[in-house]
Amino acid sequence: MRPARALVDLDALRHNYRLARSRHGGQALAVVKANAYGHGAVRCAHALAGDADGFAVACLEEAQELRAAGITAPILLLEGVFEAGELDAVERDSLWMVVHHPEQLRMIEQARPARPYTVWLKVNSGMNRAGFAPEAAAAAWQRLNDCGKVDEITLMTHFARADEPQVISTATQIARFDAATAGLPGARSLANSAGVLGWPGAHRDWARPGILLYGADPMPAADNGLQPVMTLESRVMAVRELDVGEPLGYGARFHAERPTRVGLVAMGYADGYPRSAPDGTPVSVDGQPTRLIGRVSMDMLTVDLTELPAAGLGSRVELWGREVSVNEVAKRAGTIAYELLCNVKRVRFEYRDSLRNA
Ligand SMILES: *Cc1c(COP(=O)(O)O)cnc(C)c1O
Repeated sequence: MRPARALVDLDALRHNYRLARSRHGGQALAVVKANAYGHGAVRCAHALAGDADGFAVACLEEAQELRAAGITAPILLLEGVFEAGELDAVERDSLWMVVHHPEQLRMIEQARPARPYTVWLKVNSGMNRAGFAPEAAAAAWQRLNDCGKVDEITLMTHFARADEPQVISTATQIARFDAATAGLPGARSLANSAGVLGWPGAHRDWARPGILLYGADPMPAADNGLQPVMTLESRVMAVRELDVGEPLGYGARFHAERPTRVGLVAMGYADGYPRSAPDGTPVSVDGQPTRLIGRVSMDMLTVDLTELPAAGLGSRVELWGREVSVNEVAKRAGTIAYELLCNVKRVRFEYRDSLRNA
């Protein structure tokens, strides 16, 4: 059996959720969109079911997967509905939905629900991606309130740069949101992971942590005590010695500058390991730090074993997890941990959960 696998530590997931909730106060929606950032939405939601106040996903299809798996907690559709036809399903599955543009408002006004909807009204406080303009927020709230189709309205916004603690724009967004919603009743929700960890002024009734649940700190300079959830690992399946000057792999990107012992590892970009990772990207072999050398191919990659004489055939290779930070790999590869985690595929997923195995 191919040894490539993703180990998902559901105890760590719960630890991170609890940490987010206590740092923020109030309640927290666990964001499990995009298959829980690649970790498996159903497994993650079940693991959090005893703790989480609710879940957030991108779209109806993701919510339906959770409902079909027996998740009964509130589930928020972060992008709301894409067409009026989805409103029946929203009602049937008791989903909460974001309303972020006028067309969604019209769909709700024209709907005939048997029970009122729960809506999160999104205000654009400066990210300029989704949400009602600050000056349009009160009127949108009024229409939702008056249409008779909605019971609760939570007010929300989303930050563009909360992971940059020294940048003023998050404070500006908070102030704009507060001004736009002053005097309107209802709960508030501002903080994503970076807002939870770095912006106490954004802590209101509901947090919406995503990436931090999976143990990748959006501000890695601070040690916030998060635990990595996914370990992406495989094994050395062959070993070869290179003489000085010999090339390695596609494009001969790497040339041996000294006699080099190369470990061939069953992991490639078809598994989600980034092809853009350069020579020198950290990996760990049998718990010892070393480096990627040579271009990552579809099913295999190569690592430097020169300094690790005890390592060889069958050695365990960690691509990211507790020994190798996914943030560090992402930085080297010119991307973010979010993208690496979402991209993991083909490998076997194995779950650890002390509550289930106990
Ligand atoms: C994805 C998302 C989040 C979670 O963001 P993280 O940076 O992963 O914590 C929160 N709110 C909204 C609206 C989102 O789309």
